[in-house]
Amino acid sequence: MKNLHQAEPIPQAAHDALNDLLQSGDLFRYTAESDAPVTLLEQEFAQMMGAKFALAVASCSAALFLSLRALDLPSNVKVLIPGFTFAAVPSAVVHANCKPVLVEVGSNYRLDMSDFEAKLTDEIKAVIISHMRGHTSDMDRIMHLCDAKSIPVIEDAAHSLGTTWRGRKIGTLGKVGCFSFQSYKLVNGGEGGILITDDEDIIARAVIMSGAYENNWQKHNCETDLFRTYQNTLPLYNTRMSNLSAAVIRPQLAEVPRRAEDGLRNHDHLAALLSTHAHIEVPAALPAENRAPDSIQFNLAGFSDSEAEALMKYAADFGLGLSIFGLHDGNARAFWNWKFLDEIPDLLKTRAMLMRACDVRLPAALTLDEVEEIGIAILSCVERAKRAKAA
Ligand SMILES: *Cc1c(COP(=O)(O)O)cnc(C)c1O
Repeated sequence: MKNLHQAEPIPQAAHDALNDLLQSGDLFRYTAESDAPVTLLEQEFAQMMGAKFALAVASCSAALFLSLRALDLPSNVKVLIPGFTFAAVPSAVVHANCKPVLVEVGSNYRLDMSDFEAKLTDEIKAVIISHMRGHTSDMDRIMHLCDAKSIPVIEDAAHSLGTTWRGRKIGTLGKVGCFSFQSYKLVNGGEGGILITDDEDIIARAVIMSGAYENNWQKHNCETDLFRTYQNTLPLYNTRMSNLSAAVIRPQLAEVPRRAEDGLRNHDHLAALLSTHAHIEVPAALPAENRAPDSIQFNLAGFSDSEAEALMKYAADFGLGLSIFGLHDGNARAFWNWKFLDEIPDLLKTRAMLMRACDVRLPAALTLDEVEEIGIAILSCVERAKRAKAA
C-alpha cells in the first residue's frame, strides 16, 4: 500500500533558490534591503488570492494568534470556534488571552448553524471558522449573522487553499484568512503560515507583532502610515518566516490549481466507490462549495465502538492510515482532549460524529489506480470489521 504521508518532490526552482540562499547566507527576511524571498512570497500570495495584504509567519497557528491580537480585543472576551477543529485553534484563543466557546459540528463536518446562531451572543467578540479538513461551513449564513452584529470573522483556511465558495476564494470571505504550509497541507514548506487581509489596521498591527522591530516594517511593501503609529507600542512575538521556507514555498504556488484539481478527482472517485457500501456514508459538499481535498472523511453507519476499533486495527494491518477521530488515542481534533481549557462542554452532536468519522489522507499525486486500491482496501476492512463483531 502506498505511503499516504509521502510528500511530493519539491520543484527544481526551489533547489536553485535554496542554493543561492546557502551561498549568500542571507536567511533572515530583513537582511536584504528589498526583494527578500519572504517579501516576494507575501506579494505573490496576496496577488494569487486577490487580497490587499499578506503576512508570512512561522505557522498557521501563529497567523491565527496574531489575527486575534491584531483585532485588539480586550482580555478574557469570548471567541466562538467550532467543536471540531485542530487543537491549534483553541490554543490560539487561549494564547491571545480570550475564552473559546465551542459550537456543535454536524455529521457533515460543518458547523451546526442553529447552535452557531444560539451561541453568537453579545458576549462574542470574534469568530474563528475552521474549514476543517477543507469542509466549508455555510459561509453565506455565517457572514450574514456576523456582519449584522459587526463581529469579525477569522477564517482558519489551513486545509482550504484552492477551495472556493460561490467562486470566491476561501480565506477572503472573513476579515482575515489564515493558511498553513506545514507538510501535510496543499503547499509543503515543512513549517510556515500566512495571513491575508484587506484591513490596514490589522496588517499594520500583525506585521509589527510578528517581529518587524525598529523600521523593518518598511520592507513589507504595504502602503499604510499605521506602522509608524504602532511601532514600539505593541509586543513583539517574533514568529517570522525564514527565507529558506519562502524559497521552498514560492515555486509551489503555481502547483496549487493542479493539486486542487487532482485532489478533487481522487476524492470524488474514492467517495463514489465507498458510497456503494451500506455501512459507509460520505457527506456531500454544500452546493456553493468547490473543494480542493487532500484527504477524505466518511462516516460509519450501524457500527458499534468495538467494530469501529476493529476497523482501525485491520486498516493498520493493511498499512492504511485510517483513523477515527474520537477513537484514535489522544487525537488532537477531539475536543475532550483539549485539557488545557478551563472547561470543556459536552457537545453531543460533535461527539457522535467524531466517534464514527474516518479520516484518510489522499495526496493529489495519487493515480486513480492507487486510489482504487485504497478504496478496495477500505471496503475489505469494513467488511471484515462487521463480520468479526463478536470477536
Ligand atoms: C494544520 C492546521 C492548523 C495549524 O497549522 P500549523 O501551520 O501547523 O500551525 C490549524 N487549523 C487546521 C484546521 C489545520 O488543519
